[in-house]
Formats: sequence, structure tokens, C-alpha cells
Amino acid sequence: MPSVKLNSSRDKIIKNRHPWIFSRAIDSVSGNPVNGETIEVLTSKGEFACRGSYSPMSQIRVRVLSFNHEEEINSDFLQKRIFKSINQRDQIIDLKNTNAYRLINAESDGLPGVIVDKYNEYLVCQFLSAGAEYLKKDIVDILKAELKPKGIYERSDVDVREKENLKPAKGLLSGEDPDDLIEIKENGIKFFVDVKHGHKTGFYLDQSDNRKLFQDFAKDKTVLNCFSYTGGFSVYALKAGAKKVINIESSIPANSLAMKNFHLNNLDENLVENFTEDVFKVLRKFRDEEKTFDVIILDPPKFAESVSQVTKASRAYKDINLLAMKVLNPGGILFTFSCSGHITPDLFQKIVAGAAIDSGRDVKIIKHLSQSSDHPVLLNFPEGHYLKGLVCYVN
Ligand code: SAH
Repeated sequence: MPSVKLNSSRDKIIKNRHPWIFSRAIDSVSGNPVNGETIEVLTSKGEFACRGSYSPMSQIRVRVLSFNHEEEINSDFLQKRIFKSINQRDQIIDLKNTNAYRLINAESDGLPGVIVDKYNEYLVCQFLSAGAEYLKKDIVDILKAELKPKGIYERSDVDVREKENLKPAKGLLSGEDPDDLIEIKENGIKFFVDVKHGHKTGFYLDQSDNRKLFQDFAKDKTVLNCFSYTGGFSVYALKAGAKKVINIESSIPANSLAMKNFHLNNLDENLVENFTEDVFKVLRKFRDEEKTFDVIILDPPKFAESVSQVTKASRAYKDINLLAMKVLNPGGILFTFSCSGHITPDLFQKIVAGAAIDSGRDVKIIKHLSQSSDHPVLLNFPEGHYLKGLVCYVN
């Protein structure tokens, strides 16, 4: 098996069991590994450190698969990892009411770069790293044999693959091609998901726990759902008895799918108003018109794609939070999120606190939120924690 040797100053990084080994930690490579090939990592003294996937183009040069010398990286190994991940989901998901959730969450489930989401009878996958791509065929074969899905569809049409010297990839990997819209059930609520053209693998599964919690705050309320995508929080709101829901979303297909989702759940469309517009603009308009709401959700896209964008992103987060606080009724509730991994929970709270001061409102945090439990975070991989949210009481 090809191998890499660590710099003597980096031998100790293995103790932390972090699944990434950066290029600067590597002293030499032997055996000419190809992109994504499984290699052995040796300490500077030549002792076994771990096995992982080699990615010669990426700063993350090796993604660790196992620190156990006994564990060989073959299809038995992959099967065990996949089983473990699926079994954990069986314990945390209410399978009677939910048939769409994340089955494999990459590094945090011991399979770096591998995302597998279940949408009813279909699986939708992303292979984001060179190693994931290298193991793709074996992983798909195991998923097919063990879960017997109707079809397995790939949505690796993402830019991060470039860093791993991989082209975007999209299409059917096994079984039947999914329909344009798959009907799923999440916490007993129905949604149509467009797995071929939707964002990520089709739906923001990472918000499912938060959407459920949100129902406790929606009854008899006027709800403003900013960055509403296909209406996730809004459908939950109306199911919980909200008085009125306003969606703001810039994507036309997302908004039209949101309407289909209201109909799918037999909700009264007169209770819904859609703005296919920019949230920043609409919030300013509402502020100027002195239009107010009881509950507001801010779930924007990733504003900071890299560390260099943190300052600019912080300003954007502050802007929308400030505007939302201005258009909330006294005693209103704000659900505010950031899915930028580079914005830490601490920084996010500071940004929201800055918005509270500038808005002149008295704001209390009543809950800290995170990604859903089917998106676990391995403790030695804090990078896996990207979604953070605050529920605020705004007086
Ligand atoms: N809360 C949603 C997910 C939101 S994802 C859910 O539960 O499903 C963020 C959404 O914001 C995307 O649908 C994207 O199209 C939209 N978006 C991005 N920039 C926007 C802008 N400036 N104004 C309005 N919508 C925007």
C-alpha cells in the first residue's frame, strides 16, 4: 500500500484523532498513490499512524478512515461503517412519521466526504472528496444490497469537488430514476422534494428538528419566513395553526414548489403570501411601511464561504437581524440561523447582540439551536458543526 510520512513536528497531531491531515504535515510520499487511493500514514519514525484517502491536489492531503492498525479498508470495513451509521438513525428518527433524513454524515460518521440522504424509497448521495469518489462504487453496492432502495441518485454537482481534482457529477447510480418530485414525510408533514434540481440533495434536512420546535411558537401568529426555499417552516407554521404566513425567497422554482407543498398538506392558500424577491429589500420595505409580524425566521444561505469572507458576512447577518428586530411586534419571536461554518456560535451570538443594541429592542435568547440529530458532529471534528441558531424573545 502506498504511504506518506509525517514531519517529526507533526507526529503528535495523530493523538487528537482529527480526520484531516493537511499537506504541511507531510514530509514524504512513497508508492505513487492516485487521486483518492487509500494509503497508510506513518509517523516520522516509520510507525503506523492511520489509514486514509490521499488527495494530492487538496490542502487536506489525507482524510482519515481508520486509526486502528487491524482495520483494513475494504468492503467489509465500509459495510460496518455504513451499518453503524444507519443503526444510529434507527434509534433517533421517528420512523413512523419521518421517511426523509440523513443516513451518512461524512467525517462525523467515519466516511469522509460521503453524504447519503434518504428520501422515502430513494437515496441521494454526494461524494465530495477524492477518497469518497474512489470508494463510490463499493459504497453504492453496499447501499443497494442492504437498503434495497428504489433508486440511488448522485448530486455531486458541487464546486468543492474542484479542490479535490474532481469534476461535478450528477445522475442515476443504481435502480430507477426518481420522479421529478418525490413525496416525503417529515415529522408527519408532507413535502415534495426535487432531488434532481433542488438545493443540496433536494431538501434542508438539517432543519427538521428546528422546524418541529418552531411549531410551538406559531399558533395564531403572523409568521414572516425569510429565505423560505420550498416553504419548510411555513408549512409547519400553518399546520400548527398560524394566522398568516409570508414567504420571502428569491428562487422562482423554490417558491412554486412551496405552493405545491401547501396544497399537498390541504392548507388554505389564502393564508399564504409569497414574495419572490430579495430579503434585504423586502425587510427594508416592511420597516419603512411599519409592517410588523409576531414571529420571524431568518435562515439565509451561507454568507461566508471562506475565512476571508467572515467580516463581510458578519455585516450581512447583522443587517438582516437588525431589520427583523425592527419589524417584530413587542413580545415577538425571532428564529435566526447561520449555516456558515466560519461563523462560530460565539461570533454569531455577538452579531445578533450587536443587532439587538442597534435596534433599541430588549432581546433575550430563549434557546440555542443546532443542526438536526441525523447530522451528528464527531467531537474531534468540530468543523462538522456548521448550523447554529438562536430563538430570541424580542420586546
Ligand atoms: N429555511 C429553508 C431553507 C433556506 S435555504 C428550509 O427550511 O427549507 C436559503 C434560501 O435562501 C435558498 O432557498 C435561497 O434560494 C434563498 N436566498 C438566497 N439569497 C436570497 C436573498 N437575498 N433573498 C431571498 N432569498 C434568498
